[in-house]
Amino acid sequence: MKDPDFITKILHNRFLKSDPHGSMHMPVYENVAFEFESAEDIELAFQRKKPAHMYSRISNPTVEAFEQRIRAVTDASGVIAVSSGMAAITNVIMTIAGQGDNIITTKHLFGNTYSLFEKTFKDWGLEVRFADLTQAESLSQLIDGKTKAIFFETITNPQLEIVDIKALSEVAKKNNVLLLADTTLTPPYVFESKKFGVDVEVLSSTKYISGGATTVGGLIIDNGFFDWSKNEKLADDAKQFGPFAFISRLRRQVYRNLGSCMSAHCAFLQSVGLETLPLRVDVSCANALTVANYLEENPLVKKVDYPGLQSSPYHDIAEQQFGDRSGGLLTFDLESKDVCFKFMNKLKLIRRSTNLNDNRTLILHPASTIFCEYDDALKEEMHVRETMIRLSVGIEGVHDLMNDIEQALAVG
Ligand code: PLP
Repeated sequence: MKDPDFITKILHNRFLKSDPHGSMHMPVYENVAFEFESAEDIELAFQRKKPAHMYSRISNPTVEAFEQRIRAVTDASGVIAVSSGMAAITNVIMTIAGQGDNIITTKHLFGNTYSLFEKTFKDWGLEVRFADLTQAESLSQLIDGKTKAIFFETITNPQLEIVDIKALSEVAKKNNVLLLADTTLTPPYVFESKKFGVDVEVLSSTKYISGGATTVGGLIIDNGFFDWSKNEKLADDAKQFGPFAFISRLRRQVYRNLGSCMSAHCAFLQSVGLETLPLRVDVSCANALTVANYLEENPLVKKVDYPGLQSSPYHDIAEQQFGDRSGGLLTFDLESKDVCFKFMNKLKLIRRSTNLNDNRTLILHPASTIFCEYDDALKEEMHVRETMIRLSVGIEGVHDLMNDIEQALAVG
């Protein structure tokens, strides 16, 4: 029988333990601790000899049900839900690397991720080597015995750059280095990371998955094919837990100790959001393509970047990796920063806000907001222009969006 569709798998994934009342949504277990019949049972739970929830910072039934749903649709070997997309990146890096180690990435990244690498992790002794990831074959020169991962965004925010993921995976494999992908802009349903050789996937579930910007959350997805004995920090865990070394070290140590767990309330909302993910992603991506084509035709718009456009240098690679869904994010350039601000202020429907993949369409001027802490030279290296506007296209009627853009672009 054919494998069920993504949405069918989500809707009909059964709980690990059925609810005593037959609830069809996993109830919100908004509690801290779980009680045991005997001292021996608690001992067995702490020793991991008898699986049980003990304390909600370590695991919780509502969060676990959300993780299990993600596992069902990704076919991953392990999933851990955390408090935000940033927490997902932090937890992974702190599990696989330490002082004196290095990771390889690009300066074309979400602004806070760049800051995490360049400011926060640098202070803790992790070296971050910035490279051009579109030139995968040149990366081997940067890799040495202390390189622990190649990190990239499947579609970079806000540059909308796309790398050849299979080429990156080959370089990573050849050098026994983990390939770590931030798939926030192309969540499961758009991108099957396992098929492209991504070892571990992190994403901000705050975006598409949360179901309309209800909650901040993040996911860590281990595809289960990295040989953890190749990472000296995990070599002992690999002897004991084999392919589950990473998830086990996270759950038992790093995730538990950092305390950046997802709350039960958040897991409930995001689980409900997940049920309609394919419907919302389809409309948002189709709307984004229509708006991108429309903007490209307008003489007041200097440049439009959207991987789904025929004119995009990333069109073909986007199609190979993400099919006909190129995400809900696009950028376009107007004459100057001043013109950008005037345009944004004239919008009546589209909201000025810093989030993305909300159900509503949101607009932002990245250079003066997320990237305001960086000087002009660095912004140029990051491909963040003063003339560039970022539009996160929602699921409204697309003609309403174009009418709003049209009236705001009108001179006067
Ligand atoms: N990664 C990318 C590509 C993002 O765009 C964002 C946020 O916009 C994050 C990570 C961080 O996610 P969160 O806000 O859930 O921490």
